[in-house]
Amino acid sequence: MEFLYNVVHRQLTADVVCSCGHPVTHLAHDLLRLAGAENATRITDVLEGHVFEGEVLREPALPVAEICLAALTQDISPVSREIISRILLQIVSASEWKVKAAAGGRDIVQECREVVRRGTWLFYAEVFNCRAPGASAASLMILESLGEDPELLDEAYRVAHPALREPSFDRAEMSLDDAREQWKAKEFLRDEIERQLTEDVTCPCGEPAAHLGDDLLYLAEAGNGSPRVNAFEGHVFDGEVLHVPALPVARICMAALTQKLAVDSRLTFLDLLDRIVSCDSQGWGIPAGRDLVQEIKEALAPGLGLLYAEVFKGPTSGISGTAFMILQALGDNPDRLRSAYRAAYSMMDWVLLDDGV
Ligand SMILES: [Zn+2]
Ligand SMILES: [Zn+2]
Repeated sequence: MEFLYNVVHRQLTADVVCSCGHPVTHLAHDLLRLAGAENATRITDVLEGHVFEGEVLREPALPVAEICLAALTQDISPVSREIISRILLQIVSASEWKVKAAAGGRDIVQECREVVRRGTWLFYAEVFNCRAPGASAASLMILESLGEDPELLDEAYRVAHPALREPSFDRAEMSLDDAREQWKAKEFLRDEIERQLTEDVTCPCGEPAAHLGDDLLYLAEAGNGSPRVNAFEGHVFDGEVLHVPALPVARICMAALTQKLAVDSRLTFLDLLDRIVSCDSQGWGIPAGRDLVQEIKEALAPGLGLLYAEVFKGPTSGISGTAFMILQALGDNPDRLRSAYRAAYSMMDWVLLDDGV
């Protein structure tokens, strides 16, 4: 929770005035209380009149969105998850904003949506994890409100639907195999692989890129972390040079990370992403005008929230550290990186903080 405290103190500064007239710092207590709720506290409208008025966003909405997103990367109780997800849902559902004249030409609704968008893959993970059915349902609605691809959203809904229907569904009691049976969660991944590795994606080896799909699915399902990252050499990258399939493969890695995976497989997907984001140039076969390095960076922006959650969740130092290195390579906000590094240092003391950070 150290990371969350840090975000709260960085975001809620005394120079910003809440719509109630007090400095926004007064919201810190309520937000930390919501994030720390253990039992079914009644969701009181503590933020009404401060952060929003009905569907109208007020000044503190932006820092509150940042704080809520940070809270979801932490190990918080199902009740808190639900409350926080609902706050984010209310923020992204807002249609108007009203702030002091000093805000000039800003558009708070849009800025808030950009913040929440960093949590996109985290919301997908929430849909599948279903730690709290209310949070899963709110996550689906957030994704819808962000304008996510309806096809992907339909697939997520179809796969998660049985669990959303049964609030009493207890994941803790189930083995991984049972969960697979019940959830058919891998169907989501299988569909995403098909969607991403279409016929028009060519692999430098000369085969249709679909052949990579088999490897990626095996990596997710076999649970032993094979094939290793080296197997993608000559197809996805060569040394530090990217090939065309790197973009769809990066997206597939994010989709895979929303699933319940064996530790070795999770680490290999992260290693693969790390390899991709560490490449700094692109192969000669790539059409002029395309900048694969930049395209991959943009494709992974909606995955930042999920990567932070990996940093804090572990469960191994390899997973925490690799997720952190990806965030560093993507050049995320230096303050956020530094504070995550400090908070999770015991999990990843083998990782060096970049000098520039
Ligand atoms: Zn207030
Ligand atoms: Zn190939």
